[in-house]
This record gives sequence, structure tokens and C-alpha cells, in this order.
Amino acid sequence: MRIGGFTKQSFIDWEGKTAAVIFTKGCNFRCGYCHNPELVYPKLIEQLTDIPEKEVFDFLSTRKSWLNGVVISGGEPTVQKGLKDFIVNVKELGFEVKLDTNGSSPKVLKELLKAHLLDYVAIDIKTILEIETYQNICGIKDHQLLHKIEESIEIVKTSGIDYQLRTTVVPQFHTKEMINKLHKKFSYCKYQINEYRDKNLGLL
Ligand code: SF4
Repeated sequence: MRIGGFTKQSFIDWEGKTAAVIFTKGCNFRCGYCHNPELVYPKLIEQLTDIPEKEVFDFLSTRKSWLNGVVISGGEPTVQKGLKDFIVNVKELGFEVKLDTNGSSPKVLKELLKAHLLDYVAIDIKTILEIETYQNICGIKDHQLLHKIEESIEIVKTSGIDYQLRTTVVPQFHTKEMINKLHKKFSYCKYQINEYRDKNLGLL
């Protein structure tokens, strides 16, 4: 698996847990407000040195009694071919695993859940579930996209594990009406709105 970033200890990426966070390289979306372009755009990805899996596992094996879990984030982890094997190894070390995903790969999600490899899933819902609006935010054209996102939501909803749906609100992309719609649609679950903060400029 291609790893571009590794936070050894975080208290904010998995509520109630002390977790290490792995940032995978590559993403199938092109959100205009992405905070991690170095994990998304091929040219930037190649400028970022890969962190060997061994380095991550060597560290994790020394922190078994200190960390509760491992968060796998990105980029978009589900585009990684080695994701399943990587999680198997993390689980073998005794850690719980949280997956952060854009929800575009229900097939991968289903496979990981079926193998009991996930303990928590957070899906980024980019905007209201209307195809044109969604595609504009993601920067990709895929007429099956909404179907995939809806399927991923249904999969985690019925999985029996804890999950969260969340939206990063960017003033240029989201109206008050959209936010209200999202709140209403996801009122049945743990739904969180996050305010976008530019890395350099602060809240837009
Ligand atoms: S899905 Fe996430 S990592 Fe991918 S482009 Fe959008 S914000 Fe960036």
C-alpha cells in the first residue's frame, strides 16, 4: 500500500480513542478545496516520499499498550490494492481500525466489512445527493456516482458497526439550503458538519 503520511498519535481523528493515522496516496476525486493535494495529484504524489509499510508496522508493534486504534485515511484508501492485506496486518497487531472514505467504492467497503476488518467507518458526504452538484464538487464525471455513495451509506448503516457521515462545508460550494437538506436526510444517524479551514488562510 502506498503511504504518504503517518501521524503516530492523534486524539482527534477517532472520537474517544488514541489512534495512529495513516494517509494513503491517490484519490479518485478532485475536490476543489482538497486539503491534501500532495496525496491526490499524481505529480505531487511522486514528489512525496513513500513511507514503507514496515516502518509503520515496526512503530505500531511498539505501541500496542498505548494506542487503541489505527485510522486509515487519505487520499482515498479504497483505491489502494493492498488495503485489505494492510488492515489484516494491523488487526493482527491487536488494533481496532477506522476507515475514512469518500464512499465511492461500496464493493471494497462490503468486502472489508464482510471480513470483519473494520470497527468504524466515516464517509465524507460531499454535498446533497444530486448528481450534477455532486460531480461539480468531486471534479469527476461518473453517472453511477450517486448510486455508489447511496450504496456505501446503506452498507455501513446495516453493518452493525459504528459509523459517521460528515460533510465539510465550504462557503463557495454549499448553501444554507443544502446544509438543511443534508441535516434532514441524515437525521437518523451520527451526522457531522465540519467547517472548511484553509491551511494557510484560516476559515474562508
Ligand atoms: S476525496 Fe478527499 S482526498 Fe480526495 S480530492 Fe476530495 S478532499 Fe481530497
